[in-house]
Amino acid sequence: MKLKVNKDLCIGCGACQAVCPEVFEIEDDGFAGVIVDEIKEELKEDAIDAKEGCPTGAIEEVKDSD
Ligand code: SF4
Repeated sequence: MKLKVNKDLCIGCGACQAVCPEVFEIEDDGFAGVIVDEIKEELKEDAIDAKEGCPTGAIEEVKDSD
């Protein structure tokens, strides 16, 4: 599973980083970013919690196109 943050929606609240700091980090621009490529199996639950907990729905799953 891969995730990304839609910076147009992110408000930089930091909730995702609080829930799953192994995957999300507030970057220099003040908005969250995903700091890993593929989400490891053991982090998926926390990462999905963070995705579902994002107040603006800015965290999106990246679907492999092929
Ligand atoms: S929880 Fe959502 S709005 Fe808040 S910093 Fe993370 S991606 Fe941005």
